[in-house]
Amino acid sequence: MNDIEQMARLEALLFVAGDPLTYEEIAAYLSLGTEEAASLVEQLKRRYQRDPMSGLVVRRIEGAASIATKPALSDTIEAFFGKVRDLKLTDAAYETLAVIAYNAPATRAEIEAVRGVNSDSIVNRLIERGLVREVGTLETPGRPALLNVTETFLMDFGLSSTKELPPVDLMMYDTITEFTEERQSAAHTAAVPKPLVIAIDGPSGAGKSTISRLLSEHLGILTLDTGAMYRALGVKALRQGISPADPEAVRAMLAETTMDIDLTDRVQKTLVDGLDYTPYIRTPEASRAASDISALPVTREYCVRLQREIGKKQALILDGRDIGTYVFPDAPVKFFITASPEIRARRRLSDLEKAGNPSTLEDVMREMAARDLQDSGRELAPAKRAEDAVLIDTSEMSVREVVDVMIDVIRQREALQPGWGRGAHGQQ
Ligand code: C5P
Repeated sequence: MNDIEQMARLEALLFVAGDPLTYEEIAAYLSLGTEEAASLVEQLKRRYQRDPMSGLVVRRIEGAASIATKPALSDTIEAFFGKVRDLKLTDAAYETLAVIAYNAPATRAEIEAVRGVNSDSIVNRLIERGLVREVGTLETPGRPALLNVTETFLMDFGLSSTKELPPVDLMMYDTITEFTEERQSAAHTAAVPKPLVIAIDGPSGAGKSTISRLLSEHLGILTLDTGAMYRALGVKALRQGISPADPEAVRAMLAETTMDIDLTDRVQKTLVDGLDYTPYIRTPEASRAASDISALPVTREYCVRLQREIGKKQALILDGRDIGTYVFPDAPVKFFITASPEIRARRRLSDLEKAGNPSTLEDVMREMAARDLQDSGRELAPAKRAEDAVLIDTSEMSVREVVDVMIDVIRQREALQPGWGRGAHGQQ
């Protein structure tokens, strides 16, 4: 059977299954190896991402996959079904869910030990709602049931695995009672520390993206290039024949636009309406369009909301212009990276040459100066250094030196503020 037939079979299988199927199950139904099944799932996922006319996505959760509708279409789905799933859980239920998710598999006695109260009835309700299930029993007297959260929980909370939950650092608390008291008094969302956000702002050509990438590798946390988002929207506008500086036309365009950021394997793909715009956003036209479109409040609102959503879920380095001043003004570590105009222009020129778009130093300097002026002069969230950002002039420094300085700053701040959530990707 060829790949096209297998793909059709996989789609049909996931369609009728509804619930996630493990790769082993898929492999068995399609008479394939498990790795082939996983690769077929990946191809189907990409096919849906590329096809703006499809209303479906492939969801992958801990070695299993299912077909679901695109989150952007929830209005239509809700119109059909009524409110699909109105969670409205109590704080106690959220807290119990968090205890199970973080300690899974957990027994009822362990949940009670953490919460300090008997939670059996809440657990039963969570099981009825399909958010928690029994996954086995403990080999001790009485054989208590072991509980874990379900795929439904993961989907409802936008997670692909419990590993994506921001970590709770129990070392921050002297006693477990202090931990539970803090959780009980706070809203459920505030019960865990905020994931670490590192803001890196500065003008173009200062070296932010190279530095962010190296820092990301060193710290083991993801990095988000926010400029790529404005660039991709600018390119979409140009392709549609819309002026990126026209507020009304851009507003109408954004109402019809879905943007997804794929940070898998640490390489950012900026998807607009399911299409990866990464190959098209590094041209001089894209730079101009990005500067124009990013000056519009409607665009900033659109991108900043997405940036905050991504930064809430995991530890993240964000590189941009307004991260420390506007997107995450509370970020515990902020840097403002700059360099002399000539050095910045030389770096940009070399990038352009490498990308097959040669220019002259004078043209690049003129273009950059115009862009800097527009970025720093706009009304909403202008590009500027946050008062508490560490300023680094990279004109005379190697990338390695810059990154070393940044790591020193991060370590010092961390020593003063232990317990930052390093998120799912955090490691030392
Ligand atoms: O960083 P990069 O040069 O890719 O950004 C392209 C343009 O996007 C910038 O000139 C700026 O106008 C805009 N931008 C922004 N806010 C950000 C990131 C980029 O306005 N956080």
